[in-house]
Amino acid sequence: MLLKGKTAVITGASRGIGRGIAEVFAQNGANVAFTYSSSESKALELEKELSSYGVKVKSYKSDAASFEACELLASEVTSDFETVDVLINNAGITRDNLLMRMSEEDFDDVIRVNLKSVFNMTKAFQRGFLKQRSGSIINVSSIVGVKGNAGQANYAASKAGIIGFTKSIALELGSRNIRSNAIAPGFIETEMTAQLDDAVVQQWRDGIPLKRGGTVTDVANACLFFASDLSTYVTGQVLLVDGGMLT
Ligand code: NAP
Repeated sequence: MLLKGKTAVITGASRGIGRGIAEVFAQNGANVAFTYSSSESKALELEKELSSYGVKVKSYKSDAASFEACELLASEVTSDFETVDVLINNAGITRDNLLMRMSEEDFDDVIRVNLKSVFNMTKAFQRGFLKQRSGSIINVSSIVGVKGNAGQANYAASKAGIIGFTKSIALELGSRNIRSNAIAPGFIETEMTAQLDDAVVQQWRDGIPLKRGGTVTDVANACLFFASDLSTYVTGQVLLVDGGMLT
């Protein structure tokens, strides 16, 4: 019960990694406010599942890429939950293509949903963190943001941007006891990676020292560390959860 009594806000938790984080957090006693973009039935199903752990849970349909929507979300969540202790910026999309074939729209969409969303949400929730003089912000980047990836220039740029943002916010807000860290997952088995063809998946697996793809729980456990009091002296860090892939 590492998060007993704390409240966490997680973007994009209707499925995949966000859902895994919501489950691990609720199991550890956290109240959970989470967002989704369109999967309402999945969100309601998750609300029910998490409530069975005896914590307060509420889902919000909210576009993380919209500045106004994030401002509105922050005021709704604050009035529903009173205080927020942890913000997890997880929502993300891919629109992969070689630069030669990548449209301006695919570049802009990925930057807006993956990177601008982190600015929107952090700005909206920092007010509460500043007032209570504590908070943990956890941004979901990717190893692709560290090393780049052919066919993912838009996605890699957004994930590298998240790392720069995370470190800058750690410097700005550290004196107020607000921590900012990033997780950089490697190959995690979710709907996002299920879109890849078998040969590409095998190639990824072959390059992983632990010889398996990661699970959403592997990523959630790393977030649990950053959200809990186990990491009170850790800020501005990027934790690779990649089975050793970048080693
Ligand atoms: P996923 O299965 O595709 O789930 C994405 C989640 O984000 C869904 O809940 C989706 O909601 C939500 N979402 C999408 N656009 C949104 C928006 N504009 N506003 C609010 N929510 C939005 O993806 P995933 O694999 O779990 O990835 C989660 C995060 O981890 C992403 O940032 C991704 O880049 C990162 N990551 C993933 C991997 C991997 O191997 N899977 C590796 C490294 C990093 P709906 O269900 O309503 O669409």
